[in-house]
Amino acid sequence: MARVVPIKKQRNIGIMAHIDAGKTTTTERILYYTGVSHKLGEVHDGQATMDWMEQEQERGITITSAATTCFWDDHRINIIDTPGHVDFTVEVERALRVLDGAVAVFCAVGGVEPQSETVWRQADRYKVPRIAFVNKMDRSGADFFRVVGMISSRLKAKPVPLQIPIGSEEAFEGVVDLIHGKALIFDEQSMGKNYEFVPIPEELKDEAEQWRQSLIEAVAEEDETLLDRYLEGEEISPEELGEAVRKETINLSICPVLCGSAFKNKGVQPLLDAIVSYLPSPVDIPVMVGHAPDSEEQIECPCEDDAPLGALAFKLMADPFIGHLTFLRIYSGKIVAGTTVLNAASGKKERIGRLLKMHANKREEIKEAYAGDIVAAVGLKYTATGETLCAQERPVLLESIDFPDPVIEVAIEPKTKSDRDSLSQALQKLAKEDPSFRVKSNDETGQTLIAGMGELHLEIIVDRLTREFGVDANVGQPQVAYRETITKAVKEDLKYAKQSGGRGQYGHVVIEVEPQEPGKGYEFENKIVGGVIPKEYIPAVD
Ligand code: GDP
Repeated sequence: MARVVPIKKQRNIGIMAHIDAGKTTTTERILYYTGVSHKLGEVHDGQATMDWMEQEQERGITITSAATTCFWDDHRINIIDTPGHVDFTVEVERALRVLDGAVAVFCAVGGVEPQSETVWRQADRYKVPRIAFVNKMDRSGADFFRVVGMISSRLKAKPVPLQIPIGSEEAFEGVVDLIHGKALIFDEQSMGKNYEFVPIPEELKDEAEQWRQSLIEAVAEEDETLLDRYLEGEEISPEELGEAVRKETINLSICPVLCGSAFKNKGVQPLLDAIVSYLPSPVDIPVMVGHAPDSEEQIECPCEDDAPLGALAFKLMADPFIGHLTFLRIYSGKIVAGTTVLNAASGKKERIGRLLKMHANKREEIKEAYAGDIVAAVGLKYTATGETLCAQERPVLLESIDFPDPVIEVAIEPKTKSDRDSLSQALQKLAKEDPSFRVKSNDETGQTLIAGMGELHLEIIVDRLTREFGVDANVGQPQVAYRETITKAVKEDLKYAKQSGGRGQYGHVVIEVEPQEPGKGYEFENKIVGGVIPKEYIPAVD
């Protein structure tokens, strides 16, 4: 067996965006154009989205998979799911950990919105090369250059347009490709599948020339030879320019910007071209370095098939058709179905049953997966999110993913008493899958509490309990607390507790105002202050 796609032609990317910027629509168009999805779902209102997804799921289409594989221009692109809702910032964090490059989708009207800023900062921390896609160019109020300005001023990035739009709002019809010096007009009849190259419209010629010059200047800043040639008036070919854009994107000096309207099927194929042309392959990024499980000794995991295995489990998912899936990013070596690997975190050996690649409309069973790839393993029993799988003879721990503490907590109980055990088992399973979701019990009340990153996060958990585990549950009011409130609350609380002989329930919720009998707890300022108190704020109590 050998690898089918050369490693240089592999891309592991995420599509990140503020909610509503058009991430779903853009991803869906990508899957359509790459030929794996055979029909375009209508995603312009919430109801239709659900209908479409449910239908797709019935037919076994895993568009909601943690990683979906597609092909474009001889390249394999693994698209790693990166949720846009603020409740899932943790999910974004773990996706960023395993991807090599990203497309940041912005709305041409809203531009850089709060969540785009959060995700952008996360990507900065992980040093992820990015391309920006200014979507919704067809909307009234769309302004490409304003968004380019915002990427520079708000995100402190160096945006470099590779295209400028032809028309905007209702009149948006295509783009000028500054690298190749051509205009592309998308044909509405063929859902944008067809487009034609036309000469650059007369009225845009000067503007396009100016932007092409800024493009050359931006990349030449880092490349002296190119700069000299440019200053001497030499012609820079599209290939040379493309190479320079690739280099500067990968070393994080620039962020190429493209535009389009995913919904109107305009601009998505050039975006795919840009993904393969400018985002890094797994060998274009720094080598992953882990450490020995029992020492600080550093261990390199080079992206080579014949190196010992080093892979990170980044997402656990229950698939209704196959069962328990563990998504792995392989940094070094290869994984072979039917073999045994070592979980370096727990020290346990695990057998890899089957290996699957998830496409939008099918699952492909494979025998081996190689360095740089992303694959779903079936049959792993003990491996949790963030743990490393490695060769038995060379244990290594890859730097795990940071998971912040949950910020919201609710009480949960089964609707039917006999479901108590099933609920408890289901919750434990979900907690293993999702490190930002925790289950605990309140010693005093005996209640089970679940904690997560936001209301939506917990709603989805409760929904999954019904759908996947057949357990209906009731939940209590969410008790939200902000850390500032809690810090103050805990201090006051402690003082009060000492004076009154009552005691607060440090660790999570502070309840009851009047000290009742000692040991019963009390309320703070007459209201319940909920949430998880960060450890450092928890005072010692006798
Ligand atoms: P997400 O929350 O980022 O995944 O955004 P969606 O892809 O679900 O899109 C949010 C809304 O914007 C939906 O109603 C889409 O139909 C709409 N939308 C997405 N792309 C475009 C576009 O290019 N133009 C216009 N006018 N609407 C779009």
